[in-house]
Formats: sequence, C-alpha cells, structure tokens
Amino acid sequence: MKIAFIGLGNMGGGMAANLVKAGHDVHAFDLSADALAKATEHGCATYTAVAPAVEGVEAVVTMLPNGAIVKAVLTSDVIGKAPAGALLIDCSTIDVATAREIAALAGSAGYQMVDAPVSGGIAAANGGTLTFMVGGTAQAFERASAVLEPMAKAVIHAGEIGSGQVAKMCNNMLLAIHMIGTCEALALAQKAGLDPQTFYEISSKSTGYCWSLNDYTPAPGIGAASPADNGYAGGFASALMLKDLRLAMAGAVDAGAMVPMGEHATEIYEAFVNSGGGGKDFGAIFTTL
Ligand code: NAD
Repeated sequence: MKIAFIGLGNMGGGMAANLVKAGHDVHAFDLSADALAKATEHGCATYTAVAPAVEGVEAVVTMLPNGAIVKAVLTSDVIGKAPAGALLIDCSTIDVATAREIAALAGSAGYQMVDAPVSGGIAAANGGTLTFMVGGTAQAFERASAVLEPMAKAVIHAGEIGSGQVAKMCNNMLLAIHMIGTCEALALAQKAGLDPQTFYEISSKSTGYCWSLNDYTPAPGIGAASPADNGYAGGFASALMLKDLRLAMAGAVDAGAMVPMGEHATEIYEAFVNSGGGGKDFGAIFTTL
C-alpha cells in the first residue's frame, strides 16, 4: 500500500521504518533534514513538502507534537491534496476537541479519519510493539487496522471519533497518579525504617501492586529495571507526562468531570518540569521526596 507518513521524530521515525519492513511504499515528510535522512536510510521515499508526499496515497499517517500542528498540516496540506477517499490516521497525542474538529473537516471533504494515539515509548515504536487506541467508525477502524498492524502489539477500537484520545488521556492521567503514589510509598517505607526492596517484595504481591511499582520501579536498584537505574535517563520524559496531564485536565473541563488527583498530579509534574526535570523520566518524582 502507498502510505504517506508525516512527522518522523522519536516515535514516527521507527514507525515509518516498520511500515517499510512490512512491504509498504512509504512517502515520508518532516521539517527536519536529519529526520528525512534517517527515513531514507530506512527505505522511505522522502519529500520536502507535504503535498507531493500525499499524492496518490491510500492512507496518511501523522505523528506530530500537538493538536495545533496536526490541524495546520491536515487542513492546509493534506485535505484536498491527498486523493479523495484516502484514510487519515492521526497517531499524535492531542486534545479530544481538536481530534473531533479535524475529523469533521476531513469528513466533509470526503476523507475517513481515525484518531489513533499510542501507548508505549520510543522502544515500542522502533520494535513495532505499540498499543493503538483507535477512535472512528467500525469501517474506518477496519481500514486503519491494516495500516497499524505492522507497528503494533495491539490495535483496539475505542469507539467513535475522539475516543482514542479519551482513552489515552485517561490512561496517562492514571499512570501519573499511580507513579506518584508508588514514589511516595517507596520513600515512606525507606524513611520509616523498612528496606525498600523488602517493601517491593511485599507490596508487589499485595493490593498495592501496579505497573509503576511492579514493572517500572522508580527507585534505583529496587524491584524491576527502569530508568531509575540509569539516573532517570531515557524512558518517558516528565515534560511529555506534563503535556498529557494538561490534555487530560482540558478534557476533564470539557466533559465536566471531577479529577482532583489528576489536578494534583499535574501540579506536581509542573513543579518538577519548572525546576529543570523535564528531560528526566517521569519516575524521577522519587528524587523530590
Ligand atoms: P518528536 O518531537 O521527537 O517528533 C515530532 C516530529 O514532528 C519532529 O521530527 C518534527 O520535526 C516534526 N514536525 C513538527 N512540525 C511539523 C510539521 N509542521 N510538518 C512536518 N513535521 C513536523 O516527538 P515524538 O516523541 O516523536 O512524539 C510525537 C507524538 O507522539 C506526540 O504527540 C507525543 O505526545 C506522542 N507520544 C510520544 C511518546 C514518546 O515516548 N516520545 C509516547 C507516546 C506518544
């Protein structure tokens, strides 16, 4: 299949490479010359503008930093330039309202669209093991699945358009909250005189178990391997967690939902990022306790 891929950064670079490996003809575009050079190495055909990249394609995948950029790229360079009937798949993490607005614009111009944000970081993008949460009609989901499979461990239909972004914001708000809780429990155990490794052995098999504790233990040398064992380098940057929390807080306002723990988690990550921790893995909240 001829597929355009726009946004070849930390995530998109590996994702486009996996589409090439699956035998697709990938037409790649990014503003960065370095990203384009890497995409060429991975077997993509590269372009210096969006319009020629989307010519004659059956699907357009976007993996961009935020909703404003996704909207600008799709409305100015994709809608009306890609063949009518092409499927638009936005894998970026963006706000629900913008995802629905863009899909409506695309729909009125004759394009099916899905929002398909991902869980899993750069390693999963490179390894083709991302989880995609997809919002759109059943038919659009079926078409999108064929494109997403080579990049995926799981492709899940979340519901109508925007539902993928709803799932993503809720998942990452929950992740932030249980990560902070895990950091607090580990620090408290240690300060109150319990060996943190012993606490891990007990709580990871008790009702305190959760992904942050069991699979990504945020204290150095304790429990499961994680970026904590490497000075909190790599992993999922606190700045990206803050971005996702802000999207969740905006989504909660739109939905009229109460999220007191989400609000507090946002304040905690905001303070950490403002004090220079934005590049550190989100488990580094442990170091502030
Ligand atoms: P990134 O900054 O590494 O990559 C974004 C790419 O988009 C860059 O190469 C940039 O040059 C390009 N770009 C920006 N504006 C553009 C434009 N107008 N036209 C074409 N290209 C443009 O970001 P990333 O880490 O790859 O994240 C991409 C998306 O995936 C974000 O929405 C992010 O929230 C989400 N995400 C990231 C992770 C992660 O661990 N990095 C995990 C899950 C989801």
